[in-house]
Amino acid sequence: MAARLALDKCAGAVHRAGLVPGHAGETRSNRYKGIRRMGRCKLVVGNWKMNGLLAQRDEVAAIGAVAADHSAVEVGLCVPATLIAAADAVKGAAFIGAQDCHMQASGAHTGCLSAAMLAEAGATWTIVGHSERRQDQSESNADVATKALAARAAGLKVILCVGESLDVRDDGDAEAVVSEQLIASLPQGAAADWLAIAYEPIWAIGTGRIPTMDAVATMHAALRAALASRIGAEAGGMRILYGGSMNGDNAAELMAIDDVDGGLVGGASLTAAKFAPVIAAAGDRMAAEA
Ligand code: PEP
Repeated sequence: MAARLALDKCAGAVHRAGLVPGHAGETRSNRYKGIRRMGRCKLVVGNWKMNGLLAQRDEVAAIGAVAADHSAVEVGLCVPATLIAAADAVKGAAFIGAQDCHMQASGAHTGCLSAAMLAEAGATWTIVGHSERRQDQSESNADVATKALAARAAGLKVILCVGESLDVRDDGDAEAVVSEQLIASLPQGAAADWLAIAYEPIWAIGTGRIPTMDAVATMHAALRAALASRIGAEAGGMRILYGGSMNGDNAAELMAIDDVDGGLVGGASLTAAKFAPVIAAAGDRMAAEA
């Protein structure tokens, strides 16, 4: 299936569609993998984790206003479930997402939330497979794939997270391990119009440390190749975000990497003041590529 653009607002990125090996616009990643590169507008999403009370609605509104100033970038905030409805009411040009959903549509699962419940509250996206859930709730790759399908069935778009531990990175196995994790977590029918991938090295989350730019480029190219092995040309349109201590100081350099299609941002998304430079870096990159 041909890759589709994720949202109408991404239509401005069509200029990047159709770059094929041997053409003037050929880049390193699309050349060596031979993957047709489709239009991918930057996607920048905040993950508020277990932070945020109603008082933070003002920050949501301010971030929504920043999103309006950068209309070429798709901007979202994945807030605690308790804030989804309130955030939806003030979201401006941003979308509101959840941070997880249950695998089942309903049933005897005390304390859990189904994808349909999250959608009804106002979420249009959800994260699945964040490393904090994989670790704290022992979620397996199969669980993550099932959650992604449950989200899809309820009409939610999905950000599926993968990433390696520091031990794996130090052993030199990171690309192979994370590619394998991605393949094992990928839901049936994975397509660019409802699924994005977030590469989040576990050791970079909340630590202020990030991989070298070369390491990020190598990983993102490897993940796109892994996607292509499963979903063919659709891989060219699927957005692969970087996550892990992205902030206003490093976002421009990260966003400039060929296969980095945006960011999943934790700490630096909690206030508009911190998040705005990340969104602006994505907007500047879109403009530079126009
Ligand atoms: C995250 O947990 O998704 C994340 C990227 O966090 P931080 O930006 O704080 O490292």
